[in-house]
Amino acid sequence: MLEIEAKHEQCTICKHEYTSINTEISPGIKIYVCNTCLEAAKHNFIWVCMGCGKVYLRPKKMVIEKMADSELKRAYLMCEDMQIIQGLDMCIECDPAGIMNYMDAQKTAVC
Ligand SMILES: [Zn+2]
Ligand SMILES: [Zn+2]
Repeated sequence: MLEIEAKHEQCTICKHEYTSINTEISPGIKIYVCNTCLEAAKHNFIWVCMGCGKVYLRPKKMVIEKMADSELKRAYLMCEDMQIIQGLDMCIECDPAGIMNYMDAQKTAVC
């Protein structure tokens, strides 16, 4: 049987549009992103929690301006025009204490 890959899945970000556009945010984990959310990703960094599915969206300008670390700031500036959607193993709601360590570990893994 042939499988038709034109199936539409619910958008992982907004959870109301259906789309066939998908991307792998970490090995083996696919998320679906509709056109509206893809457009939003040009101006915002988007993080998706793998634990609870919660989506975090932050304006790129704001995130970059707040960065104290100049190395990190430069890395993010280079991604300013890219559509970046990253997966988090857990978010502040899944693990309020653990998220801090996770964010620290994330620092080197940009782009
Ligand atoms: Zn969407
Ligand atoms: Zn979560």
